[in-house]
Amino acid sequence: MSATAATTTTLERGVFLDGALQPLGAATLTITHPGNGELVGHVTRSSAEDVDRAVRSAHAAFGDWRRRGYADRGAILRAGAEAFAAHIDELVPILVAEQGKTLREARIELRKAAETLEHYAGLAKEVRAAYVHGLDPGVDGRVLRKPLGVVGAIVPWNFPTTLLANKLGPALVCGNTVVAKPADTTPFTTLRVAEILTEAGLPPGVLNVVPGTGPEAGEALVSHPLTRKVAFTGSTATGERIMALAARGVKRVTLELGGSDPMIICDDADVAKAASAASMGRFYNCGQACLAIKRVYVFDSVADQVIEAIAAKAKRLRLGLGTDENAQLGPMHTQRQREIMEEQIARTLERGGEIVAGGGRPDDPALQSGWFHEPTVIVDPPHDSPMAQQEVFGPALPIWRVRDFDEAIRLANESPFGLGSSVWTRSLERAERAAAEIDAGYTWINSPTKVYDELPFGGVGASGLGREHGSEAFDHYTDLKSVVVKR
Ligand code: NDP
Repeated sequence: MSATAATTTTLERGVFLDGALQPLGAATLTITHPGNGELVGHVTRSSAEDVDRAVRSAHAAFGDWRRRGYADRGAILRAGAEAFAAHIDELVPILVAEQGKTLREARIELRKAAETLEHYAGLAKEVRAAYVHGLDPGVDGRVLRKPLGVVGAIVPWNFPTTLLANKLGPALVCGNTVVAKPADTTPFTTLRVAEILTEAGLPPGVLNVVPGTGPEAGEALVSHPLTRKVAFTGSTATGERIMALAARGVKRVTLELGGSDPMIICDDADVAKAASAASMGRFYNCGQACLAIKRVYVFDSVADQVIEAIAAKAKRLRLGLGTDENAQLGPMHTQRQREIMEEQIARTLERGGEIVAGGGRPDDPALQSGWFHEPTVIVDPPHDSPMAQQEVFGPALPIWRVRDFDEAIRLANESPFGLGSSVWTRSLERAERAAAEIDAGYTWINSPTKVYDELPFGGVGASGLGREHGSEAFDHYTDLKSVVVKR
């Protein structure tokens, strides 16, 4: 598949099974470009039988893969990460066409995905468990890490490759095999990545890909008796459904779910930097990120300044097709996603709040065939409105004025979600209080909300269960076994 092929010809792809792409099946899904509605291609709509073949193939590959040493698996993953990085120029147009994001965002995402695989390849030789000497006289204990078996990786459409890499890296290093199900709208990048990793040395069956729908292929994957763990990123509702299905068979789950990340801007903050971080954190990827900044609480005394700065940035963002090098904000991913956000905005404004930037669809005639929405900023909507209480998965940011730090912390925690959070202040005391008191899996202090491979990432409450990233991810892809040896 070449870059030109991805943009000028229609793609037709089947299941990726046993190291090879299969022909397009009888049942198919049609993939269109979110920016202009053009046909991108067709992909097999995997059935329960397709999923069964993929899981059995991964199960068959598990025996050999788990017996290889960590160093060997790490070397194969490193070769895969290098091959992935070498193919970024080819992957960019495919990702832009099926996802809609801008060229710049696609490059950043793909680079990050390759880096994550490389990161875990590097950690392969560091995986350790424990040894306890002298449990009793002449008795020693060892703790082994054992891979789980077949892992089902269910990935959404907002970051198809990084969210896959977060699961593949630790799963493969630990000796598991993987069946991945991409979102029904973003299969092509995932299928090509699987081919690239296989060409670089990943043995057949260690990674299979079943494109298809959640209720059909996704549920078949979760429910398959040979699937031992499900690593999922997506909505809280689907996460709950997956957890319920995984209860049968007592399967492990990692659930990276929605977020409604608060940002607190104090009166002693570097206002310009905080406003930039808010704009980038909210509007990146057209606001479609679990870790996006979705609520801003700003001290009254600097509120006008902050609101003006964020609104000005929102108004300046250049909307455009992903293929336009100058575009800063692409379309939303689907018509449905845009409708959900429009309804959240409308239902919020019925009850209060003032729009200070954007508010609707753009007028530009060139953008009428895509799912574009203006970057929107709303000030002081009610605290129990959809903008405050639901996950808003698009380019709309609510900002609230607050009296003081206590009120900011209280409101930050008034959400069912607890994924990321950030605080901007020069006060050590406030910074430490935010780190300790905000109920979330991450707190950034005076920092843009960048995710690091080195640090565990995940949520509390409705934001999920388990952690990705960091060496802590290994805990979620292994079982511990104790061995006692009497000398
Ligand atoms: P979903 O959670 O439904 O989809 C995420 C992934 O799960 C997709 O691969 C989907 O497949 C799959 N899936 C869906 N239903 C099932 C099921 N019953 N069993 C197994 N797998 C399933 O998210 P949506 O795409 O429907 O988006 C809805 C909302 O979810 C967004 O508006 C946003 O609020 C939130 N969301 C959050 C994300 C995050 O990063 N936290 C990412 C995406 C969405 P398929 O797409 O083929 O149905």
